[in-house]
Amino acid sequence: MEYVKLINCMRCGMCLPQCPTYKETFLETASPRGRVALMRKIEEGDLEVSERLLEYLSLCLDCQACASACPCGVNAGEMVAGYRCERRDGKELSTMENLILRRLLPHPDRLEAATAPMRLYQRTGLQKVVRKLGILKMFPPTLERMEGLLPELPVKPLRQTIDEVTPAVGPERGTIGFFLGCVMSLVFSEASYATVKLLSSLGYRVVTPKAQKCCGAPNMLSGDREGLLDAARFNVDLFAGHRLDFIVTDCGGCGAELKKYGHHLEDDSRAATFSAQVRDITQVLALHADELKAKLNPLSLKVTYHDPCHIAHCQGIRQEPRTLLRIVPELDFRELPEADACCGSGGTYNIEKPEMSDRVLRRKVENIKATGADVLVTANPGCLLQLRKALAQETPPIRVLHVTEVLAASLLPPLL
Ligand code: SF4
Ligand code: SF4
Repeated sequence: MEYVKLINCMRCGMCLPQCPTYKETFLETASPRGRVALMRKIEEGDLEVSERLLEYLSLCLDCQACASACPCGVNAGEMVAGYRCERRDGKELSTMENLILRRLLPHPDRLEAATAPMRLYQRTGLQKVVRKLGILKMFPPTLERMEGLLPELPVKPLRQTIDEVTPAVGPERGTIGFFLGCVMSLVFSEASYATVKLLSSLGYRVVTPKAQKCCGAPNMLSGDREGLLDAARFNVDLFAGHRLDFIVTDCGGCGAELKKYGHHLEDDSRAATFSAQVRDITQVLALHADELKAKLNPLSLKVTYHDPCHIAHCQGIRQEPRTLLRIVPELDFRELPEADACCGSGGTYNIEKPEMSDRVLRRKVENIKATGADVLVTANPGCLLQLRKALAQETPPIRVLHVTEVLAASLLPPLL
């Protein structure tokens, strides 16, 4: 932990009203200022690390809303995540962590094979029976929670169906490397298919290297720095083999991590080049908003937008998705109160801290309902999973779509 980062906090409290866990508890220990103070006390040797103290720190969603609000550049979320990594350093991964972080995630083919039974579970109708009979209530609550988040999976992951090279439509204006992202490919393949097609319709040749690995964000979240660095080295090597104008992702979490590769691999100049090329899909599409607008059909929808933390707070992207939604003819865009407040997903936070996750989510759902929108748009798989489940339970249900799905539905001829 860099001590200087801890002492930068001048305890002004401007971060407090932005912190989702503080807004729910009004506890100083659940606030960014409180977390920085706790870490400072540990660093200065005035506080012993106890289970209770670790619990306070682990309640942080790493949403980084505090960083957006802090006038001193203090990023409590990032510091808490870094502190978890430091505590982990040198320690062995548990058997389960080793299985997921080292044996599954870095191998897309294994990951896809591991999700095949879930596809079968849904396609055979077993999921409906299990849910109707409440069979999962007989198992640990975590399992029921995880199952409840599972949306309808596509027939095949996008990595298996997309061509390695998608040619540009019309005159070619450049080449884009597409970073698939595990969850986008496995679960939200339609949205990512739309991403590739939108780029090609705007004149980009899209290269999707099939060997690409997970971005390493789950390793970072679990404090597995070695696994993160392995992933970063591999992906930098792979994409360096292509001449690219941009590396595009439609996953906010992946984008935020890929943009840090240059920092993670300071001794490899190609990593800095890689990170400088990374763009969220909305950044590239917004560059061509006028051209895109001319291709769009009216969509008579009431739409609001939830800013994913990894896009708004971690990457500073706020205007581009709104610009893109506003160019769709007849689309009624309604600003969401507290649009950039976390939805409570936070990687695996919604599984590990269900009570706080649900409290944060409830506030988000109430804000969405207050807009009167019939579609909630966002741009990150964690938010899509969390909000699809929650908003499907509303009456009437509110649809949840990725930005690219809305644009693809409006494009002439429709892409999806
Ligand atoms: S973290 Fe930043 S905003 Fe929060 S109390 Fe410290 S200086 Fe103020
Ligand atoms: S990262 Fe989010 S939850 Fe954690 S201290 Fe900052 S605002 Fe609060």
